[in-house]
Amino acid sequence: MQATVLSIAGSDPTGGAGIQADLKTMTSIGVYGAAVITCITAQNSHGVVSVECLPPNLVQNQIQSVLDDHLVTHVKIGMVGSAEIATAIIHSLSGFCGEIIYDPVMLSTTGQSLSTDSHPDRTTLPIIKQATVLTPNIPELEQITGMPVNDHQNMIAAAGLLLEKNRRLRVILVKGGHFMQENSLTDIMVHRTAEGLRSAKLTHPSVQTMNTHGTGCTLASAFAAFHALSCDDLYSFRQSIRYVNSVLQNSKDVQIIRNRNGHGGMLHYSFEKTETATDIQSE
Ligand code: PLP
Repeated sequence: MQATVLSIAGSDPTGGAGIQADLKTMTSIGVYGAAVITCITAQNSHGVVSVECLPPNLVQNQIQSVLDDHLVTHVKIGMVGSAEIATAIIHSLSGFCGEIIYDPVMLSTTGQSLSTDSHPDRTTLPIIKQATVLTPNIPELEQITGMPVNDHQNMIAAAGLLLEKNRRLRVILVKGGHFMQENSLTDIMVHRTAEGLRSAKLTHPSVQTMNTHGTGCTLASAFAAFHALSCDDLYSFRQSIRYVNSVLQNSKDVQIIRNRNGHGGMLHYSFEKTETATDIQSE
């Protein structure tokens, strides 16, 4: 039977981030994607105009409808929107024993809050308890752990602390986009193995472009898709970083939006499936 990767996320009408980016990523990688919408946003590169959360029971019914009919092996969670929707998601997934990849998004690309709750921890922390994989950026990791994160050692220490506190979590992929060193970036994965906690680093050149809207959603969806194809954490880490780099590189000079000062989305159809570049260094 065909395996399905289910995205539970917010809608971004521009197609750059949210559920739209998740489905494009899954299709380009070659897995079957299903989609449950938590909130509808009205936004573009100038900002978020409004956010409307769906009733929690409608979110729950959408999830149940997919789980009843499909063989869902991986669930990717993005924008949740409210603590009530978080509760509905947790309730719906209580009997689900596959992978739950959670991208704890807090802000839109234009810097506005994507939570209708004044205490975002009420939304994120309960989902972290259910997740098997977490993909925070550095500000999100700081917010979740309360620890300052300003170098690679801190990234590993904060991720290790989260893994010790949350027994279901197996993998934390920390996106290094907020630390640039000589035009290169390092993403770090800390994961639980039979031999204890291990970390892996991937260093790659930073792609110079304004078309970065949706990179976080894309990375988490790519990890989910590659994991659905391989069941291998290290492979999924490397391939998901390669996916984002490939589509960033191939869309970097394209004018996707009218606003020349804004962040455009990426051309997912430009993903080069065959690994030819040797510009990602493992450590
Ligand atoms: N989800 C939605 C619905 C969004 O609108 C955004 C950003 O605007 C995100 C998630 C996170 O976007 P990014 O992948 O750029 O971090």
